[in-house]
Amino acid sequence: MCCKGKMMGRKYDIVIIGSGLGGLITGNILSGKGFKVGILEKNTHAGGCLQSFEKDGVVFDTGIHYVGSLEPDQVLHKLFSYLGILPNLNIRKMDQDGFDHFLIGADEYVYPSGYSRFREKIESYFPDEKKAINKYIEKIQEISNSIALYNLEPILFDPQNFYKKFDFGNTWEFIQSITGNNDLQQLLAAQNSLYASKPGSSFLFIHALITNHYLQGAWRFVDGTRQIADALIEQLTKNGGKIFLHKEATKFNFSEGRIKSVLTKDGEEYQANQFISGIHPYQTMEMIEQGNIRKAYRNRLQNLSNTMSTFSLHIALEDRKIPYMNYNYYYYPMGDVWGLTYYDPGEFPQCFGVYPIADSMDEKYTRGMSVLAFMDYDEVLRWENNRVEERGEEYEAFKEAKSIQILSKLKNIFPEIHENIKSYSSSTPLTLRDYTGTHRGATYGIERDYRFPNNSLLFPGTKVPNLFLTGQNLSLHGMLGVSIGALLTCSEFINLNELLKEINYA
Ligand SMILES: Cc1cc2nc3c(=O)[nH]c(=O)nc-3n(C[C@H](O)[C@H](O)[C@H](O)COP(=O)(O)OP(=O)(O)OC[C@H]3O[C@@H](n4cnc5c(N)ncnc54)[C@H](O)[C@@H]3O)c2cc1C
Repeated sequence: MCCKGKMMGRKYDIVIIGSGLGGLITGNILSGKGFKVGILEKNTHAGGCLQSFEKDGVVFDTGIHYVGSLEPDQVLHKLFSYLGILPNLNIRKMDQDGFDHFLIGADEYVYPSGYSRFREKIESYFPDEKKAINKYIEKIQEISNSIALYNLEPILFDPQNFYKKFDFGNTWEFIQSITGNNDLQQLLAAQNSLYASKPGSSFLFIHALITNHYLQGAWRFVDGTRQIADALIEQLTKNGGKIFLHKEATKFNFSEGRIKSVLTKDGEEYQANQFISGIHPYQTMEMIEQGNIRKAYRNRLQNLSNTMSTFSLHIALEDRKIPYMNYNYYYYPMGDVWGLTYYDPGEFPQCFGVYPIADSMDEKYTRGMSVLAFMDYDEVLRWENNRVEERGEEYEAFKEAKSIQILSKLKNIFPEIHENIKSYSSSTPLTLRDYTGTHRGATYGIERDYRFPNNSLLFPGTKVPNLFLTGQNLSLHGMLGVSIGALLTCSEFINLNELLKEINYA
């Protein structure tokens, strides 16, 4: 399915750098529209954060663990139908009475899916706060409905003005404005792990879109998210597109102010009329020599702040011991759901998320889970320039110490899991950096700050006339954000509203 040969000598209409979700969806749509598309991927496996890996017979995911809006008529369902990948996907709906569980301080809560169930549940925790809960739901729905593209509705204005329609408020200010009850405030912001923001900067529209996305129904991918990458590559190939693995793009060659080709680390040259970068803007700018782009623009893109990185612990469990957990579990014992982004390294992990896997071997029992804790990239800075095999015993000891710290806290909440661990392995911010190429292993790419929208929301077009961006650094990360961002990128090449019509009638 993937090509090992050269693209050299054969000119492509569009070359895309990076085969993450953004590169693959953009490539699929454009190849389906008749463009000759080639995708360059630095790794031996495609997919970026869609990659899964197997340990002790259990399939773990590196990035996406669950998504929303996959019911018929919902956004991702429509988009995946249009892309022709839906029949290939093996998905499992999470518990609608509680797909996300939270421990906040000493109290446990759940988020059910569906607005009426959600309202009823939150009101049952806070019977005196009905007015605030209503205001919250109304605002989340109002914002989510107001951003046309996130509902696959035609855009009645130039896509360049897309972001002007956004509500640029702050999540925490809004939540605090509707209730003075700290427990309710914390609960309403408790999905913060899904966007890793800080209270002073958190964008309300991101909070709203993500909350709305999951409240519409949450789903897991059975046997890993690599199936999404596989399905997208199959369609790309059917459309005549090509993907080239183990091809790390290193430099853009310019002629008369435009990119004429991209060079890969192994010295190959790939020519195209247009180029789309699905990788972090920092790395994209690194590929452009001084003089080919305005310094101020380069500096701006290279100095964008990044979201926190992640330490992941992947646990394989003894067979048929732990009943299938059809929900995730977020652990905020300090009672502060924002604390995940300003943890004290000595107290790691202060917060974490537990993501049991769904697999086809055993639907009744949990065979494995990933526990994710945000980690500052600086914690692994001393090994930054070492290749994996050169990081040595100290690095392994660091990983082991962090794993034990997570396991000891996990034991407090799930002793039965702790007693049934078959094996575990871990990955650090350096793993994330190496597998996705993302700058400083940033979990969700660049940081979004409602006070600085220009540095938080990037346009697909760049200062180079034939270079465009796609992927999580455009407007929003995650399955929803990257998919919608890909539509925005495609709008630079095809009529967006025609495309939206086709997606809606697929
Ligand atoms: C730990 C974690 C948990 C997450 N959980 C969820 C979740 O539950 N739900 C959800 O919706 N989202 C989740 N996300 C976010 C989601 O995974 C990402 O936003 C999304 O997959 C990013 O896609 P992308 O295409 O922008 O980039 P990536 O997936 O980062 O892909 C970029 C690709 O480019 C390649 N590349 C980089 N540099 C080069 C180069 N120079 N030449 C060639 N190729 C290159 C990389 O190897 C990679 O394949 C999670 C992310 C992480 C890290």
